[in-house]
Amino acid sequence: MDNAPEIWKHVDDNAPELIALSDRVWGMPETCYQEARSCAEHTAELRRQGFRITENVAGIPTAVMGEAGEGGPVIAFLGEYDALPDLSQEAGVAEPRPLEKGANGHGCGHNMLGSAAMLAAIAVRDWLKESGTAGRVRYYGCPAEEGGSAKTFMVRDGAFEDVDIAICWHPHSVCDVMVAESLANARIDFTFRGRASHAAASPHLGRSALDAVELMNVGVNYLREHVPPESRIHYALIDAGGIAPNVVQANATVRYLIRSPDLKGLLPLIERVKKVANGAAMMTETTVEAHTLSAVANLLGNAPLEAAMRQHLEALGPPDFDDDDRDFASAIQGTYGPEEISDSLHMFGMDGVMPGPLCDRLVPADSPRLGISGSTDVGDVSWVVPTVQMWGATYAIGTPFHTWQMVTQGKNAAAHKGLVHAAKVMAAVGRQAILEPELIAAAKADLRQRTEKTPYVSPLPADLMPPLEM
Ligand SMILES: [Zn+2]
Repeated sequence: MDNAPEIWKHVDDNAPELIALSDRVWGMPETCYQEARSCAEHTAELRRQGFRITENVAGIPTAVMGEAGEGGPVIAFLGEYDALPDLSQEAGVAEPRPLEKGANGHGCGHNMLGSAAMLAAIAVRDWLKESGTAGRVRYYGCPAEEGGSAKTFMVRDGAFEDVDIAICWHPHSVCDVMVAESLANARIDFTFRGRASHAAASPHLGRSALDAVELMNVGVNYLREHVPPESRIHYALIDAGGIAPNVVQANATVRYLIRSPDLKGLLPLIERVKKVANGAAMMTETTVEAHTLSAVANLLGNAPLEAAMRQHLEALGPPDFDDDDRDFASAIQGTYGPEEISDSLHMFGMDGVMPGPLCDRLVPADSPRLGISGSTDVGDVSWVVPTVQMWGATYAIGTPFHTWQMVTQGKNAAAHKGLVHAAKVMAAVGRQAILEPELIAAAKADLRQRTEKTPYVSPLPADLMPPLEM
């Protein structure tokens, strides 16, 4: 690793525009495939920066790709900009204060995620130009990470086919190279159909779809004891069949989110949940139809890229937070309990090690981390392209994900510092890969080894199109 400050200068030079982009996207929170304005902002910035632009990637109107540079290897930075429903919140206040009741909010920091990834891409582009080096750098604006698994569709469409390595990050309260692997998951709607009838006069003629949903949920709750302990099965009622208790409900839909440590475990688990659904249909003399909405693979690590990223992260150190940042972070910490704080540190094996309200040291390489129990569609990219990611520190330690506390911190000074910090680490990895073909070769060999015995199969049903109207 040499001369990283050279690329960090390009990050600093471009930071103001990309911080502004992050703040603008924060202010127009859009969810799952509806990110028209956010994607337009990202596209406009790419255009302003002189990138060659491909819109409508994989037939998704809110996906965009920008490329710069000529020849050489192809380095991809993955960005996101989708928000979450019902998380509207004023910025920079340590109390819940919705801007608009029921509206969306950036509760997972994807406004920063996309901007920092683009900032890294721009810095690498500037360095390529200045140094006259051959190489191409791309920014992928990927929508619908929350519940839409757009990257899984983009992988299926071949959007990453000629990419040599992919680099990404996610905002967090701690700074670390992501080494743990995330879970594979699938979202499936089970729709039961029975026969409507008057619930008092002729209940014997009715066949209740709502009964079937309830029996399916009971069945799955019994199934839980007999699945691998790392599996997760969640459900939500999408359609309970109506609000009238005096009719037998003819239609009802329950949405299942099924997670497993890897694809190999996910696919049989889905089949077992389907068996329970069929059993519920049989018991109630209804029919059931399973419709997959989205699915993602587990995240594969990549040892050579993680080692490279760690070197750059250690050379840079943690973000440079100041007392104002820490004061506000302390106020935020006052809105949740000590359990959140200790749990968050425990995830990284940092119990009792980081006493301040913001990340002031890096997680050591040998820290006893726990695995991640969430899922991400970066997983699918990691099966086809060597991929490396980091957690960047932007939030008060312990901030729970998908909460108003995340939204309110999304455009304060600590968030801006954290996003520039992450861009520096990512850009340095990209630059190193362009300069060192042997790093790309080692990363590819590592991926080959991980997928040799279980090649990638898309978890998406072959005929499933991106659920653009979700
Ligand atoms: Zn997220």
